[in-house]
Amino acid sequence: MSFKEVAMTGSELARQLLSEEPITSPIVSLYFTVPADPDQLVGLVRQACPDLDHATLDGVRGALEDLPGTRGGVALFVSRAPGLRRRLPLPGYLAESAHVGMRPYVRPLLAALHRSVPYCVAVFDEARAWIGVRREDRLVESAVVTGEETHAGHLRRIADLLEDAVGKDGVEAVVLGGRADDVTRLIALLPTLARRAFSGHMVVEPSAVNPVKLRRLADEVVARWRASADEKLAAAVLDEAAAGTYSVEGLPSCLAAVNSRSVHQLLVEEGPDVPGAACEGCAALLPDVWPGCPTCGGRVHPVPDVLEEAVVAVLRGGGEVVPLPPYLLEGVHAAARLRRG
Ligand SMILES: [Zn+2]
Repeated sequence: MSFKEVAMTGSELARQLLSEEPITSPIVSLYFTVPADPDQLVGLVRQACPDLDHATLDGVRGALEDLPGTRGGVALFVSRAPGLRRRLPLPGYLAESAHVGMRPYVRPLLAALHRSVPYCVAVFDEARAWIGVRREDRLVESAVVTGEETHAGHLRRIADLLEDAVGKDGVEAVVLGGRADDVTRLIALLPTLARRAFSGHMVVEPSAVNPVKLRRLADEVVARWRASADEKLAAAVLDEAAAGTYSVEGLPSCLAAVNSRSVHQLLVEEGPDVPGAACEGCAALLPDVWPGCPTCGGRVHPVPDVLEEAVVAVLRGGGEVVPLPPYLLEGVHAAARLRRG
């Protein structure tokens, strides 16, 4: 399984990872950026789980020996059970972290994929167009159009190609490069999906297309677009929570919503573990280790990261998870939009 082959959202990919064969021995989830020091990474795993068995540690060492020569982020999932080894290339820089548990640890994966929006770029003038799609860390040419038709026909052809890219290639954002008045005309011609995905434009001449430079410019446009969308989403959900309309904020309320399977969209902060607890009887998640479960009276045990538990429960229930920089959530760790009706 690779990021290249499957145009999936972070939630979809994490859900697939979590639904794979049942895991009967500990699984190590290791995140890092190539090049990284293998000894240091193994040290990180030992720190996360000091009594981890040798077979699993050897599995981690083996997986680190056969790393690709490319740079960038990597997520590695290793267990001593045969066949349970996955390596996912992830775009951009990833902070090193190791987790050991009975299933893949997915919060850093979701954060990396949320930051890296699959997008396409169209650079055009009245005579030509160059269209490229971002694949991993490169911009790959997907179409070249020469303006053999009328100007309006030329623009319509570009608009249709962009609509196709959004509909079929899993592209979430569209960046346009050209003269301001041409861009305005093209935007007016964009069909529904492409128009919804339009994220900004840049001034570039198609005669001087340099994929490396273009990618850098487009990355910036898309990063600004995503940051602005995140900000709006967080503000809207926090406002709804304050008004008490179909949203809640804060760990206790979000965990209660997760326990009652009523979360439609979970907004969760990126970053370190937030310790909490879970009930051994009914699996309810709790913000603290209470003497007994408030729902079933069962025994409660501590969990190292209750945000991860909440994320997994929401994904398994078919909900969506949106990882956000902590400052957007104003320090409440999580907020949630609830299912209606
Ligand atoms: Zn319980």
